[in-house]
Amino acid sequence: MHRLCLILFGPPGSGKGTQAKLLRQSLGIAHISTGDMLRARVAAGDALGMEAARVMQTGGLVPDAVVNRMVEDRIEEPDCEKGFILDGFPRTVSQARLLSDVLAAKGISPLVVHLKVDYNVIIARLSGRRQCPTCGALYSVTSNAPTVSEVCDYDGSKMVVRDDDRPEVVGERLRAYERQTAPVLDFLKGAGYAFFEVEGADASPQAIARRIEELIQGVRS
Ligand code: AMP
Repeated sequence: MHRLCLILFGPPGSGKGTQAKLLRQSLGIAHISTGDMLRARVAAGDALGMEAARVMQTGGLVPDAVVNRMVEDRIEEPDCEKGFILDGFPRTVSQARLLSDVLAAKGISPLVVHLKVDYNVIIARLSGRRQCPTCGALYSVTSNAPTVSEVCDYDGSKMVVRDDDRPEVVGERLRAYERQTAPVLDFLKGAGYAFFEVEGADASPQAIARRIEELIQGVRS
């Protein structure tokens, strides 16, 4: 069977990260989050990380050349052999073109899931989002709170609000999405890949993950 590449597409706060974490377990494939990879570089404090931090703090996008290179290298790692989920990539048409060339060269036809979520829900989700700085687990103060308030269920770390979830940055991230990322949808639709729209806010994260699993099974059976 062909290697599975699942592209989780959607605006910030649509649930890409949460779905990717659930699906990587059920599907047994790698999770590639360019946002997590960039945050790791920021934490490492190297030159690339410092440059990325400046862009991320303002809600903009890190240059294509940097992100493309990171993803090209990451896909070659052994844990991607069975397949991989792309979360937060591609975010520009130029990234989508690069990805489509890389996948074509490997004989992989990706499956695209567009997580559709109402704008007001996104704003509410991002303002209530919390993340564990140690293991990366995602929580929501309203719909998916940890057992002990502000403490990670898995490792007891104190939750943090991501720098770019602050209200003054969220607006710019959504503008970057409309301007640079929304056009990627047309590219992916036009590329002839299996493409699905999934309502991303009307059920629990687990129920939405099951819908996506069923879609994948339908395409692959
Ligand atoms: P995320 O965790 O996916 O919301 O990403 C957080 C931030 O990292 C974004 O707001 C961007 O500044 C940067 N970023 C993540 N993925 C990409 C990408 N594919 N292209 C450019 N910038 C990215």
